[in-house]
Amino acid sequence: MLYKIPRLYDSHGHFLATGQFASGLHLGSLQKAEDLASVDENNPAFLRGEWLVGFGWNEKHWPTPPHKDLLDKLFPNRAVFFARKDGHRSWVNSKALEYFGIQSENGILIEKDHLRAWDQLPNYTKTQQRAHILSACKEYNKGGFTHVRDLTCSESLWNLLVEMSDSKELTVALEENYTTHDLNDLDHMLALCLQAKKAETSYLRMKGIKLFYDGTLGSQTAYLSKPYYGKTSEGQGSALWPLEQVEEVIKKTWAAGLEFSVHVIGDQAAHDMVALARKISAAGAVGRLNLEHAQILRPETIQMMKPLHVRCHMQPCHWLSDQVWLKEKLSDLYRYVFPWEALKNAQIPMSFGCDAPVEPPSFWRNKKALDESVAAGIKKFTGDIAVIHSHPDKNFADSYSVIEDGIVKEIVFDGRRLEL
Ligand SMILES: [Zn+2]
Repeated sequence: MLYKIPRLYDSHGHFLATGQFASGLHLGSLQKAEDLASVDENNPAFLRGEWLVGFGWNEKHWPTPPHKDLLDKLFPNRAVFFARKDGHRSWVNSKALEYFGIQSENGILIEKDHLRAWDQLPNYTKTQQRAHILSACKEYNKGGFTHVRDLTCSESLWNLLVEMSDSKELTVALEENYTTHDLNDLDHMLALCLQAKKAETSYLRMKGIKLFYDGTLGSQTAYLSKPYYGKTSEGQGSALWPLEQVEEVIKKTWAAGLEFSVHVIGDQAAHDMVALARKISAAGAVGRLNLEHAQILRPETIQMMKPLHVRCHMQPCHWLSDQVWLKEKLSDLYRYVFPWEALKNAQIPMSFGCDAPVEPPSFWRNKKALDESVAAGIKKFTGDIAVIHSHPDKNFADSYSVIEDGIVKEIVFDGRRLEL
């Protein structure tokens, strides 16, 4: 089957991390923690300053869980930071813990600690960052994409992107968002957004502020309305922010004319955010709400979205990775998972993406997930995938991609035919 799609859009990704992941130290193939012994800690592509940095480990089938003692033994002279596959945890050594000023028995940092630690890593050199940006462009183009919405902006990334946009080195058009981790950094982030907005180019747009309201299903930290596996003992996840604080973030972000985006995987997380946005809107504030993942939505939550300026950003490809445990883990809530058809029927705007580097950026994997999930009881999506996967603004970097049976045949980005 052949698709010709204008402005093929990945609506949720981590742009720089995708480039770093593609060109840096990849830990996805480790069969056990001890296999790290073969890593060349002096390879410049693996270093960030003097730190050894890697991505993508998954301890699921390891005989023993990851522990800082092993890193201390293998890399006694370097601080080490290894991000887990899901992007919500890291595995670090004692040298790194000392630097962060964090106590941890096993060297595993979770959620907020992990994100704060990530923010404190030494910067890549400018040469490394440029290479990562080009590598990310290539990864997205490989998957067919010309338009990407990035949730992980930084000041140095934005400045480099402006440079590379002016010199026409970019082969994707980008929307950027800053992630805030607590109220202390919000004003600074808002100021950076507003400053960036003035420097937008024909390939670059600054959109606003994102925060994590819950965690992931994989680590049972996504915030559900019912317990995991239907068992009270398993817990139901929890909210990462108090509602009053999120309220302040939304009000300030909207008052600045920026978009508010929030990571909500569990149904209760999504419900809380929709209810809060309604409360704030009812008091007269107006702004755009982006629900990231929106992987489990109750019907009443979808109905409550109707008066809001809301868009749901879903990643069908997560179904390919999560299907093995999804039904068991969600129990009663399984009937609300991946509600693309329910959103379509309620006419709630929605966009699809891949959450790279958690999943590879690929239009075709999303199509495959939509097709194959039907047999597992996910309601068939009767909308047009070409429309949902296209950037909604016709005036943003005119482009198209031709994809046939999973193979990207042609990409024309802003009038330039890209070499594939
Ligand atoms: Zn993400």
